[in-house]
Amino acid sequence: MMRDTEFGPEKFCNQCQEWWPATDEFFFKSSKGYLRSPCKACIDDKRRKTNALKPCCVPGCNNPRYHWRFSRCKQHQQEANRVRYMRQKVGLR
Ligand SMILES: [Zn+2]
Ligand SMILES: [Zn+2]
Repeated sequence: MMRDTEFGPEKFCNQCQEWWPATDEFFFKSSKGYLRSPCKACIDDKRRKTNALKPCCVPGCNNPRYHWRFSRCKQHQQEANRVRYMRQKVGLR
């Protein structure tokens, strides 16, 4: 749901029942360029709640998650980051 205001277009978030500016600062963009609902704040909220309860997503690892934004513990998150840097170096994606 969208509406036009004097400041620009706004998008309605079904979850927090609020209007937010229709930009990628407040909403995640889909691969086709559409802004997705719910807003970023609601998605972060949901992730924070679920991730605070769940352990690291690596099988066999029961360490707590490094941060609610990540799905791994600190050690596994660092490993994943290292792999990503190595891939970038050799030009893979
Ligand atoms: Zn919201
Ligand atoms: Zn782990």
